[in-house]
Amino acid sequence: MNDISYLKELESCELCEHRCRVNRLKGETGVCRVTTPVVASAQLHPAPPESYTVFVGGCNYKCLNCQNWSISQYPDNAMTLRGWMAPEKLAKECISQLHSSFGQLMGADRIFFSGGEATIHLPYIEKIVEEARKIKPGTKVNFDTNGYMTEKSLERVLGFTTSITYDIKAYQDEVHLALTGASVKPVLRNAEYIGKYAKDKLWEYRILVIPGINEEEIKPLTDFIARIDPALPVCFLAFRPNHALEDHPGADQALMERCVEIARESGLQLAYWSGHPGIPGEKIDSFPGMEDYYLSKGARTAGAYARRAGCHTHPRNCSTCSLNQHCQIKRYIPGRST
Ligand code: SF4
Ligand code: SF4
Repeated sequence: MNDISYLKELESCELCEHRCRVNRLKGETGVCRVTTPVVASAQLHPAPPESYTVFVGGCNYKCLNCQNWSISQYPDNAMTLRGWMAPEKLAKECISQLHSSFGQLMGADRIFFSGGEATIHLPYIEKIVEEARKIKPGTKVNFDTNGYMTEKSLERVLGFTTSITYDIKAYQDEVHLALTGASVKPVLRNAEYIGKYAKDKLWEYRILVIPGINEEEIKPLTDFIARIDPALPVCFLAFRPNHALEDHPGADQALMERCVEIARESGLQLAYWSGHPGIPGEKIDSFPGMEDYYLSKGARTAGAYARRAGCHTHPRNCSTCSLNQHCQIKRYIPGRST
């Protein structure tokens, strides 16, 4: 690494709502356990918006369902990573790939930052964008996020992005905590802010639908979004069995169609679904002891899966968990990925 002064704020990191205040440049680690930025992979990607997608390593969540677990649970569960890449070099690569004949044929028109979670590398991403725009002014950028960022980070993201793809996984806090290890409150706050004040930047809200876990969350979520603005776009994604939910059944087509109907009943004008439905699996339907920690069946089910995969802190809350530097969920290796 040469000049990394743009990473100075990592000396007391408060990029996301875990607000760990650790010195990542000195090797201290907070909930995400990431020190300096790493790139997992980068490639032209046909999923809308078509892009050159940079997957950064690490995440501030420990989602039971993660399909990118080998990237998100870096550094404890990492497969092959490209590692540290100088922003100037990566910016050059992004621009050259976007303007390659294959990129043009695909219609790729922006750099798309995904992960893992892009927020935990915010100053690095800002630097890549700055360098890319030096080469090609006006380069478009998409920021893909779970929304668990501070208001200050959100302001910065809105300052340089063209579009945002924004995941919301639950409405009730206990379901979100059981599924991700983090509170939903900042996620809803930031979703509302974007929907009210930056809707031109919102590509879509994305709601992953996990049968038996967040099915009951769909109606409150679509009501919440419709109250902000019924014209906001919502994409439901069909859950596929992965990570600690490797045995859980995928969402089927009827459920996905029902979600779109629910969204319309809430008054949303732009709701649709995508993904590969109907992957078989077997639900846990007994969760002894979980009723002591969670009220809803969805949260209890998620809690039971978390405990089976090695999380013994309930209700889950990775911010305050004394085991967060030795977390077994981050080390969990599933027997199948779909
Ligand atoms: S979890 Fe969030 S606040 Fe904590 S070190 Fe990682 S990015 Fe920083
Ligand atoms: S063990 Fe702690 S850090 Fe790990 S998932 Fe459970 S609550 Fe989060």
